[in-house]
Amino acid sequence: MSFQADYFDGLRARAKPVTVRVKTSPHLHIAFEIANESLAFALADCDVQAKLGKAKRLIDLPNGGRLEAENIDVLEALMPLKTNLFWRGLHYLENHLALVFASLLLTVFAGWLFLQFGVPKLAEAVAKATPPSMEAQLGEQVLKGLDHKLGYFSLSETDVTHKAAITAALSNLCSKVKNCPVYRLEFRNGGVIGANAFALPGGIMVVTDDLVRLAKNDTEIVAVLTHELGHVQQRHAFRQSLQGVLAGLIIAAVTGDVSSVASGLPAVLMQMRYSREHELEADRFALSALQKACLPTRAFADILQRLEAQALVATNDKNAKPKPGSDPKQKTHSISELLSSHPDTQLRIQPFLHIDLNTKRNCT
Ligand SMILES: [Zn+2]
Repeated sequence: MSFQADYFDGLRARAKPVTVRVKTSPHLHIAFEIANESLAFALADCDVQAKLGKAKRLIDLPNGGRLEAENIDVLEALMPLKTNLFWRGLHYLENHLALVFASLLLTVFAGWLFLQFGVPKLAEAVAKATPPSMEAQLGEQVLKGLDHKLGYFSLSETDVTHKAAITAALSNLCSKVKNCPVYRLEFRNGGVIGANAFALPGGIMVVTDDLVRLAKNDTEIVAVLTHELGHVQQRHAFRQSLQGVLAGLIIAAVTGDVSSVASGLPAVLMQMRYSREHELEADRFALSALQKACLPTRAFADILQRLEAQALVATNDKNAKPKPGSDPKQKTHSISELLSSHPDTQLRIQPFLHIDLNTKRNCT
């Protein structure tokens, strides 16, 4: 049994045609003559490269040389079954476009599955292993970024005594809740962000002047901040930012674009949307904490409805033509964090409306 091949000795670029004999005794090997010299190699020492479409078959030899052949069927027929099946299978896949597309789709789907479910789990594990001091440092950096670098915030114009009253009311609530996390409350003028409150990594909670103005009373503000405390308690902001970084790293590993990962975390956090699951966790915390503190849970429902009404007006305004002389920037209110993952506010506020009666009964 033999096949024709071109032999490259690994030193010169010129090929020499050879007849390669395939022998099975005492073991599977190939042999050929070149310049009056007999060469023989055990197949186990050779690297038979996979069949690639209609390209020539390559056999890398242990002496640094290489054989190139149109057809090595006689050799392949004798190769160990397992290897043979593997290469044949690979060749089959490569030559069927539908299968190539199917495996491409499968790869993309697997990647999506990992980003969707694997990354959050991974972020949770990394968050658990990260010391709170490191998370706090990250939170400080993010707030600095929002204050100075990105300029989202400016100094709060809320009256000092009003700020003190809100701070005291929240602290009073926290003293009545066993699992209240460590937090720090910050007031800011949110500018185009509008009425908003959100939790940054490390327990920093920011409330904007617009939200303070939107509230009919301080209990409503405390109710909103209690929802944010729920995010702090579960370290949602930190987990979310870890997810962003991990997903970025994975995408960078695939696309090779590392610079996208290095883009500012504050910007990522501003566009962040908590998952519906995180929002429900924060809501549950708020509901329970408001009850424990004997505050009307309805306050949360009231301010949420007002926020939603404001968001609707802002959306309608955006769609309408700007009036002459008006500042278009004033209309770019982002949807509040509090509404972000909850298209159905009515459904969400139901528990806060129904529990009010019980709260009153236990607290008077
Ligand atoms: Zn939230």
